[in-house]
Amino acid sequence: MPQDIFGQSIKYIKGVGEARAKLLSRLGLFTLSDALNYFPREYEDRTTLKRISELVDGEECSIKGNLVSEAAETRPRRNLTITKALVTDGSAFLSLTWFNQGYIKNSLKVGEEYVFFGRIKRTGMRMEMHNPVMEKAENQGKSTGRILPVYPLTKGITQTHVRNLVENALAQAQGKYQETLPNTLRQAYKLCEISFSYEQIHFPKSLAHMAEARKRLVFEELLLLQLGLFKMKGTSSAQKGLRFGEVDMEPLLKELPFSLTDAQQRTFEEIKADMESDKRMNRLVQGDVGSGKTIIAVMALYKAVKNGYQGAFMVPTEILAEQHYQSIAPLLEKLGVSVRLLTGSMKKKAKEEVKELVRNGYVDILVGTHAVLEDDAIFANLGLVVTDEQHRFGVRQRARLSIKGENPDLLVMTATPIPRTLSLVLYGDLDVSVIDTLPPNRKPIKTYAVDESMRQRIYDFIRKQVAEGRQAYIVCPLVEDSEEIEAESAEGLAERIRDQELAGLRVGLIHGKMKAQEKEATMRAYVDGQLDVLVSTTVIEVGVNVPNATLMVIENAERFGLAQLHQLRGRVGRGAHQSYCILFNQSKSAISKQRMEIMTKSNDGFVISEKDLELRGPGDVFGVRQHGLPEFRIANLYRDMDILKEVQGAVKDILDRNLLETPEYQLLKARLQRFFEVKFKELSLN
Ligand code: ADP
Ligand code: MG
Repeated sequence: MPQDIFGQSIKYIKGVGEARAKLLSRLGLFTLSDALNYFPREYEDRTTLKRISELVDGEECSIKGNLVSEAAETRPRRNLTITKALVTDGSAFLSLTWFNQGYIKNSLKVGEEYVFFGRIKRTGMRMEMHNPVMEKAENQGKSTGRILPVYPLTKGITQTHVRNLVENALAQAQGKYQETLPNTLRQAYKLCEISFSYEQIHFPKSLAHMAEARKRLVFEELLLLQLGLFKMKGTSSAQKGLRFGEVDMEPLLKELPFSLTDAQQRTFEEIKADMESDKRMNRLVQGDVGSGKTIIAVMALYKAVKNGYQGAFMVPTEILAEQHYQSIAPLLEKLGVSVRLLTGSMKKKAKEEVKELVRNGYVDILVGTHAVLEDDAIFANLGLVVTDEQHRFGVRQRARLSIKGENPDLLVMTATPIPRTLSLVLYGDLDVSVIDTLPPNRKPIKTYAVDESMRQRIYDFIRKQVAEGRQAYIVCPLVEDSEEIEAESAEGLAERIRDQELAGLRVGLIHGKMKAQEKEATMRAYVDGQLDVLVSTTVIEVGVNVPNATLMVIENAERFGLAQLHQLRGRVGRGAHQSYCILFNQSKSAISKQRMEIMTKSNDGFVISEKDLELRGPGDVFGVRQHGLPEFRIANLYRDMDILKEVQGAVKDILDRNLLETPEYQLLKARLQRFFEVKFKELSLN
């Protein structure tokens, strides 16, 4: 197999050598294959000629013209040589100006015809072209008259360096590519050949060729990722699962102090249909913070239990496990459903007891953290697994969970405002339900970004809210004071405000380094209204529900991501009272200011995530990072939604028909194996 030449060090490519190779390594380029897969950021279209009379200030373009006058050189000061020449194409005259490119003079001859490419500048009434690249009209084609790629660069590496590198890499690779996409697949989805793709993505003959090449490469990248995810999970798209029967939900709904919103109802209908079919349920419920996902989980679990199965309710933090347990156990036990809690920090004996009960089928619903995943937590008859705040679990964890029991149905919930396109990739096998409205009578949270000068007024505001019977959170980026990082710490701040600014109020402290029992006791005191203010780290980020809390103060807000700020803000505004979020921004940077502005202007997680993306650029999508998925080389999930849909169709077909086991797919299968080994090695387990 010709793989070896593609794995060859970049330093053997013509024109590279040791020194340049070292510089190129900064761009992540080590092998010939890396060079081929270093895709252009954009293109410079030098194919269309413009008439000089039609030139516009500021544009970059090509013109073809005859040299009218001998090139003239001036040296206005030391270190500056200006070369000027005049050309015409019959429509008008254009003056050309080169700075410090004295050698140009010798290659220009009066009367000859040339093609020039460069940026147009207007000075007064005259048009000029600055520092044009040029070729004789009769042998143009290397640097004019074609579409040239524009690559991301690093210090010491010029555009020309990379262009030459890629050109030579392409020459070396010619005829040695291995086509891993089967012909039938390429025909079905109109995908061009691999050699054509590489050549045309770098040096396209036309923009249409480039688009064709790009489509194939994007398709290929998304296909590998999606197949990889499926392979890792060891599931196929339509697995047989349990078939649950109809259950009367009235007894449960009667116990609720509210009625379901339309969005909640629709979501449950979708879940119900999945559970009652013999296809295994694999559903993602996406709903912004506070949209009411918990009750949906409870309803599905209730349905499973009334069908004689056990259910597991998995959450990422102990605080959240405890809270869900506290809120759902009383409700469900009234209806004859037994609920138990299992978390990692419980005493060994208590854990054993719970596990024993689960094993013998005495527990209907087990609420818990990762501990539930431990191998010996065996269920007697597991029918449904719900994971709340799915984005906090790694992909692998989900895989591991799904093998427990006899193909239990899976329901995953997330508030992370991952843009929908992204969620489709991440959960390619998941059907998605969206809870897109909040329960009625919620007042939008008022958000303010403030600086240090407002501190006293904020503390006054906290006192005012507390006097009205409400509660507040103060979130800090650090647990304890640090020598290196200048930011508020939860311990430091709690101590200070207890003695000084908020003396007289009941101030609690909670953070990840505390013992589980302490955390639990503090959280319970806060829920019961025995604390006015809870100083915390991001341990309260997900899921915590204290509807009486109306004020969220975030210290050093500049240190948090927008998605995280949105989650934290979602801890308030969960009841009927007007809620507020105060962002202390200690940074003077423009970008920080912009980010705070996004938060103050929008309460919509979806809008926030899209803006976040704009600010960070697509390579940095927080969703991708959080999930530990590889960054995309060429696919852009916003632009390439159409291709993604096609890929999903292809993946479904490949899995349904088991095509990976056919001879035609062997090369793709082998490639998948390699891709999978390299890219998924560091998938997060946190
Ligand atoms: P999240 O989607 O963030 O998990 P929760 O399920 O914690 O949201 O719900 C937030 C709050 O809204 C809870 O106090 C819950 O009791 C309440 N709630 C849920 N559904 C409704 C509804 N249809 N009408 C009124 N309140 C609701
Ligand atoms: Mg929740």
